[in-house]
Amino acid sequence: MAGEPPFAGETIAIVGVGLIGGSLGLALKGLDIGRRVVGVSRQETLDEAFALDVIDAGYRYEDLESGIRDAALVFLCTPIVRILDLLPEVLAAARQDAVVTDVGSTKHAIVSSATAHRRDGVHFVGGHPMAGSEQRGVSAADPFLFQNAIYILTPSPETPDFAVEGLACLVSAFGARPMRMTPQEHDRAAAAVSHLPQMMATSLVSMIGRMTEDEGLPIRMAAGGFRDLTRIASSPYEMWRDICHTNATPIREMIDLYIESLSAIRSAVDRDRLEQAFDFANRIRGQIPKDSKGFLHPLHEILLLAEDRPGVIADVARTLAGENININDIEVLSVREGEGGTIRMGFDSRPCAELAVDVLGKAGYSVRMR
Ligand code: NAP
Repeated sequence: MAGEPPFAGETIAIVGVGLIGGSLGLALKGLDIGRRVVGVSRQETLDEAFALDVIDAGYRYEDLESGIRDAALVFLCTPIVRILDLLPEVLAAARQDAVVTDVGSTKHAIVSSATAHRRDGVHFVGGHPMAGSEQRGVSAADPFLFQNAIYILTPSPETPDFAVEGLACLVSAFGARPMRMTPQEHDRAAAAVSHLPQMMATSLVSMIGRMTEDEGLPIRMAAGGFRDLTRIASSPYEMWRDICHTNATPIREMIDLYIESLSAIRSAVDRDRLEQAFDFANRIRGQIPKDSKGFLHPLHEILLLAEDRPGVIADVARTLAGENININDIEVLSVREGEGGTIRMGFDSRPCAELAVDVLGKAGYSVRMR
């Protein structure tokens, strides 16, 4: 029926009810159009998922076949290596006309395996929601995790369009922004903008850590810049082990390119030839979507100066809510380097940001467009 939401009234199965799987469960249930959400996990996880109202029915991995048998859509949400283990069984057990997808952070290995184990009438669409957190497990599940997040879909040439369109429409319904690309394009881009930065942060902090231990380098000097650049060095290895194993070639390619780039900077550093490199980097940095969830178009930002005291953020939010202004992104700048401001806020449009400046200015705040 025209306009009917995708998978309305159908069973949707989530295999691996952790942070991402649990968040999908909550988001799907939030849509409230008669879908039944079935989880497949260990019993302990299922008990927690029931208690949090993430799933309507639960099966253990031993009963995976029964768990997914009726599902029109199956999300595979375990760690990548386990997705690769489970894929053949899931594709074999899925019902005719089911769409099977996954949420793994690398795509080529998974889509290749799905192609190798494909079955007529079961349609696989690779997926990667560009949202997450450093927390793990269903207890950290968040119904709004995917709002405004880019959701990459990597169908193979055999995947019928209706399967991709259906999934794209569903993820749009809970606020994500679907984007289609090939698994190779995804993995190369992810290696450049996500996996290389992780390797850089890990190696940089390791280097500084060794200097601190061996030479007594005063690491306490590290302020905002170092902390901003190395935040992701706190990521757990467990998730990265799978990413590195399944995307080693693009990651090595990016590390080699970065070594070349760093070498060029090294040879120019005392020759007054870096201005062009700084200008270029400034310009490109300015073009990056400004929200961690990857807004497709940049937000319009304002900077507000405020005293560090309880209730400031509540007051700012209340003042803006009074004029029906929605804040799309907010950051408290606890360490200020390079520019003033205590709170940075992002808005969907320039008129909205200008109105926010006007309203907050009238409320007595020192505020300006960024
Ligand atoms: P998580 O919170 O640890 O959840 C993983 C789930 O898989 C749990 O339900 C876990 O519990 C199940 N599982 C099955 N076999 C497992 C095994 N051998 N080891 C560990 N857990 C196992 O992880 P997550 O953050 O949701 O990540 C899941 C997938 O999402 C990964 O493929 C990851 O690449 C992808 N992803 C993560 C993020 C992020 O930032 N976290 C973002 C985008 C995509 P049970 O064993 O009880 O089922």
